[in-house]
Amino acid sequence: MAVLDQLTSQDAMDLENKYGAHNYHPLPVVLSKGDGVYVWDVEGKKYYDFLSAYSAVNQGHCHPKIVGAMVDQAKQLTLTSRAFYNDMLGKFEKYASEFFHFDKLLPMNTGAEAVETALKICRKWAYEVKGIDENEAEIIVCQNNFHGRTTTIISFSNDPVARKNFGPYTNGFIKIEYDNLQALQHTLENNKNVAGFLVEPIQGEAGVYVPSEDYLSKAKALCEKHNVLFIADEVQTGIARTGRLLATCGNCNCENKNCSGTPEVKPDILILGKALSGGAYPVSAVLANNPIMNVIKPGNHGSTFGGNPVAAAVAMAALDVVKDENLAQKAFDLGNLFRAELNKYIETTELVSLVRGKGLLNAIVINDDEDSETAWNICMALRDNGLLAKPTHGNIIRFAPPLVMTEQELLDCVQIIISTLKQFE
Ligand SMILES: *Cc1c(COP(=O)(O)O)cnc(C)c1O
Repeated sequence: MAVLDQLTSQDAMDLENKYGAHNYHPLPVVLSKGDGVYVWDVEGKKYYDFLSAYSAVNQGHCHPKIVGAMVDQAKQLTLTSRAFYNDMLGKFEKYASEFFHFDKLLPMNTGAEAVETALKICRKWAYEVKGIDENEAEIIVCQNNFHGRTTTIISFSNDPVARKNFGPYTNGFIKIEYDNLQALQHTLENNKNVAGFLVEPIQGEAGVYVPSEDYLSKAKALCEKHNVLFIADEVQTGIARTGRLLATCGNCNCENKNCSGTPEVKPDILILGKALSGGAYPVSAVLANNPIMNVIKPGNHGSTFGGNPVAAAVAMAALDVVKDENLAQKAFDLGNLFRAELNKYIETTELVSLVRGKGLLNAIVINDDEDSETAWNICMALRDNGLLAKPTHGNIIRFAPPLVMTEQELLDCVQIIISTLKQFE
């Protein structure tokens, strides 16, 4: 079989299985094309994408404005490294800093790298500004967190599959229960070496756990009181996914007036990735104000590809799309509709216990054991019915379509989801 031959789905899966490391367990569907809210498999079958590459494709597949910016820049200049300046990075840094209301941005490529960057900045700030003794800094994290796959990050994961046999682990992290202000307060009061609190505004991978309404704002206030940096990992929740530009939304410049009343939080360090590029290219970033970001000096940190001109062009276009197409407001409205429609069904069935989420980051919990196969089997049936979603756990299915969906398309999807669920009653 020549590499460029047209593959069947089975061929493609066999190739990955034989020549690729088995570090994922994909749903058996082989995609070869995407456009907006749709993807197509190699046999030409069309699906609604209800994962959006874990919320990287908020702007929809192959958005012409984003792809256009990428192609134009790719013809001009792709990589200089940071050994030299390039004429795109500064523009992007200004654009994104103003967009999210921070003084400065540090560009990286993947979400995990951006999290690592935030941890390094936080520790350096602890020693040089807060005055913690060298190597004594602690960072508070939450149980059931997901922040990526590097050695340091999995060191403070409590997922045995992500962690086991990858030790020795990195020290300096204290794990507390998510959505538990008492635990945070207790840890802050009893440990003078805390430098930061790293938190997901909604725990996506854990199963779309939405914390109590005032959790983030009160956690931020506690951090302020103890001179501890509040670090928001918005790699999944950011860029309009949850119905606001950011789930923390401090000084958020989205036009969404409906969400006023929900307490706003301004993180000390903001971590972005995924939809920062609309899924076109790996782009991540850490944002902070000068008193924090200025601890980073030449030689302290870097990345060959971080801040390359293509990434800069793509990210600016991706943020433009979020603003121009009012995606935060769309996610807010469509999310309310989605949960309302699913709740109508849930009242009539024993199969699904609940739907939860914010904006278009939602999940349903199937009334079955956490390690059951039910969610997987439902996702297989959804695939057959033309909609792609993936379980986060044995009984939890995440529903996160691109935000560019129309109301009619969303109702069509609700129809597919409910009729599929009915097959399992
Ligand atoms: C996906 C994700 C990451 C890791 O991003 P990668 O690009 O896969 O390294 C980190 N934090 C959160 C909350 C994520 O959802």
